[in-house]
Amino acid sequence: MRIDIITIFPEMFQGPFSESIVKRAIDKGLVEIHLHQLRDFTDDKHKKVDDYAFSGGAGMVMMIEPISKAIDFLKSQRNYDEVIYTSPDGDILEQSLANKMSLYDNIIILCGHYKGIDERIREHYITKEISIGNYVLSGGELAAAVISDSIIRLIPGVLGDETSALTDSFQNGLVSPPVYTRPREFKGWKVPDILLSGNDKLIEEWKHRESLKRTKSRRPNLYDE
Ligand code: SAH
Repeated sequence: MRIDIITIFPEMFQGPFSESIVKRAIDKGLVEIHLHQLRDFTDDKHKKVDDYAFSGGAGMVMMIEPISKAIDFLKSQRNYDEVIYTSPDGDILEQSLANKMSLYDNIIILCGHYKGIDERIREHYITKEISIGNYVLSGGELAAAVISDSIIRLIPGVLGDETSALTDSFQNGLVSPPVYTRPREFKGWKVPDILLSGNDKLIEEWKHRESLKRTKSRRPNLYDE
């Protein structure tokens, strides 16, 4: 899979993409991430990519030309399954969407800044708008990193059996049961006896019960579904 990210702050991705599972996926060649500095696509001598809003009011708007050039350039090289814009009013990122996107070959993620991007880009270039929650971030970079991480860990071969994504929350419509590790007792706090019983069937039943209980109390909507 190939992810092209268009941004005015490519350095913001250094951390999230250079550690842990995402790094391993890149090293194994299972995903390629290409960061594109939007300012490279402007002819303006000051590399300006934002301007005042026609509507007036506070805040700058990202201009149409550089974004259009960047997306046209990428689309001239290959086909994209989706041209994504990170936006607070987009579809909320859910596991089901990450699952779907993990099957794609190529995606573009455009990161907004300031007041957002010229609406005509959204109308004519963007095929999918994704929000990571109902709150406003300063820019789309953190959202793009979250979206990428949620997708990359699902690409076959990225996670080993020991961390299989199939047993994570939301994959079966439920949240995960609690987990414990050594020691069996700490400050008098004990691990549930059943987990030490060695009885696989009882342990599976316990996990399922705990999953249901947690989903009911923490995500009642999911539980009802
Ligand atoms: N004026 C806009 C917010 C702009 S925030 C509004 O009120 O809707 C600047 C940029 O950050 C946005 O263009 C978007 O790319 C990104 N962003 C902010 N919050 C986000 C969220 N919850 N999910 C995804 N992207 C977000």
